[in-house]
Amino acid sequence: MSVSFEDAVRFVRSYADVIAENKEYLTQLDSAIGDADHGINMNRGFQAVLGKLEGIPNGDVGGMLKTVGMTLVSTVGGAGGPLYGTLFMQFGAATGGKPELEAEDWAAALVAGVQGVQMRGKAEPGDKTMVDALVPARDALRAALADGAPAGDAVRRMADAAEEGMLATVPLVARKGRASYLGERSAGHQDPGATSSYLLLKCAADAWSGN
Ligand code: ADP
Ligand code: MG
Repeated sequence: MSVSFEDAVRFVRSYADVIAENKEYLTQLDSAIGDADHGINMNRGFQAVLGKLEGIPNGDVGGMLKTVGMTLVSTVGGAGGPLYGTLFMQFGAATGGKPELEAEDWAAALVAGVQGVQMRGKAEPGDKTMVDALVPARDALRAALADGAPAGDAVRRMADAAEEGMLATVPLVARKGRASYLGERSAGHQDPGATSSYLLLKCAADAWSGN
């Protein structure tokens, strides 16, 4: 796998499109256990990102990802904005100056991104947050690469693990974020942030698995 600057931009743009398409769905998930704004928040942020990508100088994948993160932090409120902002800023910090990414570079970015989200939000797997999609995805990607799987298969396994993690949030009782205010009543609903994180990693797999 070799992800060029254009491929990396294509991934971010496709995620912005997927967020726009799933805006109502994410908001509906958040209406069950939150305040019904996750789709609106994410869409506001990624529409701003699309604008920023217009003038972005070609060549530095990490710089581009950092710009995405800073744009999210400055345009998205709530918990999701700073957390997704941190995720992308850490992706960028881990890949700073790279004109293209190999699978190992992307794995390092995901490790740094997940670490950033956990440092900021203090959520562990099982707390019913985006971490429940991100951590298994990170681990599946690293395990696949350590097994010597082709990079295309490795990113597919990453996305599949994120989907499983997302689905596994349904029975959980939330221990972090707004949903935790509901206590036991948060059980029986899929976490909105785990859903948007699965969609993110699916976009990466869809954009790159053929590279
Ligand atoms: P808000 O909860 O402020 O309205 P959003 O609706 O945009 O923000 O995002 C809600 C999502 O944020 C949740 O579904 C959850 O996945 C994620 N989240 C909330 N708090 C945390 C946290 N401390 N750590 C990780 N993720 C969190
Ligand atoms: Mg919300």
